[in-house]
Amino acid sequence: MAVIMDFSLSEHHELLRKTVRDFARTEVLPHARKWDEEERFPKEIVPKLADLGLLGIRIPEEYGGSGMDITSYAICVEEIARADGSLALTVASHNGLGTGHILSFGNEDQKKKYLPKAARGEWLAAWALTEPGSGSDSAGLRTTARRDGDAWVLNGTKMFITQGSVGGFCVVLARTNPDVSKQKGITAFVVEHGTKGFTASKHLEKLGCRSSDTVELTFEDVVVPDTQRIGEIDHGFTDTMKILDRGRISIAAMALGLGFGALEMAIAYAKDRKQFNKPIAEFQAVQWMLADMKTELDAAQLLTYRAAWLADQGRPFTKEASMAKLFASEAASRACNKALQIHGGYGYTREFHVERHLRDAKICEIGEGTSEVQRIVIAKQLLV
Ligand SMILES: Cc1cc2nc3c(=O)[nH]c(=O)nc-3n(C[C@H](O)[C@H](O)[C@H](O)COP(=O)(O)OP(=O)(O)OC[C@H]3O[C@@H](n4cnc5c(N)ncnc54)[C@H](O)[C@@H]3O)c2cc1C
Repeated sequence: MAVIMDFSLSEHHELLRKTVRDFARTEVLPHARKWDEEERFPKEIVPKLADLGLLGIRIPEEYGGSGMDITSYAICVEEIARADGSLALTVASHNGLGTGHILSFGNEDQKKKYLPKAARGEWLAAWALTEPGSGSDSAGLRTTARRDGDAWVLNGTKMFITQGSVGGFCVVLARTNPDVSKQKGITAFVVEHGTKGFTASKHLEKLGCRSSDTVELTFEDVVVPDTQRIGEIDHGFTDTMKILDRGRISIAAMALGLGFGALEMAIAYAKDRKQFNKPIAEFQAVQWMLADMKTELDAAQLLTYRAAWLADQGRPFTKEASMAKLFASEAASRACNKALQIHGGYGYTREFHVERHLRDAKICEIGEGTSEVQRIVIAKQLLV
């Protein structure tokens, strides 16, 4: 049956959008270029994010969070991304991945211990699945967790972990049973910063999202009690796929924000910049670029909020989340590229934000499953 949705957002959602947009304009945009140039995670913004409820978006109020739905989560990420892709990536991954894993699969003690601190911004959350040798083939991970009485001993290396060095805790996926098929023998653990043998071994320098914290993590005989295990033993990969389904909606939303932000800048610039004695907005070539950007981004927005709406309804949304991420990320890259083109040589300089949007948007085609992986997920769902 075709999925028809009521796309109109509630008054509450519209108010949230306005609130986060205002915050992003006044508190984020003025600093975004500097943070990017310094390649520094802006710790000073964390308390402000927490005050606005942006670090506990999905966390129920009983654990100190905002208790909002997935549509709200997408709105928050989209609006932050209009100003800064790096901070949007932080908000998306903190809420959706690290915190989301505990929220969805943690027990009551774990929720009480980690969620309030996450919502207050005292502990940012990281989530470590990817390894140097396993990215798209994420079930091929080699980090091990060996049972030792009431504890587990973790060994291995994780790659590209967001909030890996600034986070207070990290949810780590490790192999607990090498004797079953690779998807079946994986378990999740939460490891706190400061635990012996757990180190952020390398900061990674990146093309974009340069003020988000991306590191390699090393686990050397890291001992964690069984109380730090999240979910069932050997069931971590199934849980991980569910986390990624939701995460993909947030990456689609991040792409939307970057794309719409670039469109807004391109419109303003096209009206202002004169060549041949008229604003370049009067040239049809420029108008067509703007029209294509808006059309593709609106289509991407419909896909994204359809996926969020399905998730909020408790209906299946795996395919729709992948479609949203695939289309929105590629549409955002195209839109940012066109926005830079409209800015001409000035767009290529760091004087304008548009080049940062183009660099930041690229990660949306890679993180939480590349475009190629999204096509695999979509096709698999079509062919069942
Ligand atoms: C800035 C940043 C932040 C990140 N944050 C996190 C994080 O917080 N936690 C985390 O766990 N991971 C994180 N990642 C990792 C990210 O999810 C992976 O980079 C991504 O899944 C791709 O894996 P890979 O880089 O190993 O590429 P590979 O898997 O090596 O892919 C290389 C190329 O081969 C293609 N390819 C691979 N397999 C297939 C196939 N079967 N069919 C067709 N094409 C294929 C890919 O699409 C890609 O084009 C982050 C990455 C970046 C860059």
